Amino acid sequence: MDYIEKRERLVKNLVERKILKTKNVIHAMLVVPREEFLPENAKSSAYIDSPISIGCDQTISAPHMNAIMCEILNIEQDDKILEIGTGSGYHAALCAELISFKHKDFKGHVYTIERYKELAEKAKENLKKTGYDNRVTVIEGDGTLGYPEKAPYDKILVTAASPEKIPVPFKTQLKVGGILCIPAGTKNYIQRLYKIQKLEAEFKIKEITSVRFVPLIGQYGFSDID
Ligand code: SAH
Repeated sequence: MDYIEKRERLVKNLVERKILKTKNVIHAMLVVPREEFLPENAKSSAYIDSPISIGCDQTISAPHMNAIMCEILNIEQDDKILEIGTGSGYHAALCAELISFKHKDFKGHVYTIERYKELAEKAKENLKKTGYDNRVTVIEGDGTLGYPEKAPYDKILVTAASPEKIPVPFKTQLKVGGILCIPAGTKNYIQRLYKIQKLEAEFKIKEITSVRFVPLIGQYGFSDID
């Protein structure tokens, strides 16, 4: 079976499990080639619904987790998005597909931050060869500080587990009406995924499901040493 067939089968399965729901997210999962974001020896497992090692002790999330987060974010054409934890660049590519869905003159952009230089460089390559580099900027640095240069954002996506206290920059750099999707909890145990909407005078917080992500390490995140 070739990659396209395997990808279609995985997407069908995610739709049947009612994880994938909306047309544009289904489209994005059908067109972004996950195999192109994986190390050579892992490409054949690209369409198994599980996390995969990408080096530097980090993992690309399982496809169902990408789907859940994209559904939560309700990404619209022209959204300005900030992702913390570029990893392979795959989720950034999904976001890039969503901001330009059936739409050539897109004005949106995806900014994505990665703390490992090696992963940031590889993600840049992956995004270039798949043609998403015109809609995604990869930044190397501590993403717990956000990226004030381009704030405020319509959507913020955090793909590493934050401490229970959500980093303040994520809240301040989100637009009123914007959505933050973030896993939070303890460093190496079970965390919960939250959908946080910024309203005029408050944040509306909804708990979605239990999850397990690699830790968010940085000034407003966990420490590197414990
Ligand atoms: N979204 C990725 C998977 C992310 S794994 C993908 O689609 O492949 C989580 C990533 O977050 C790891 O690469 C890790 O190095 C990164 N990370 C952890 N703390 C960070 C921080 N403070 N700033 C930026 N990246 C961070």
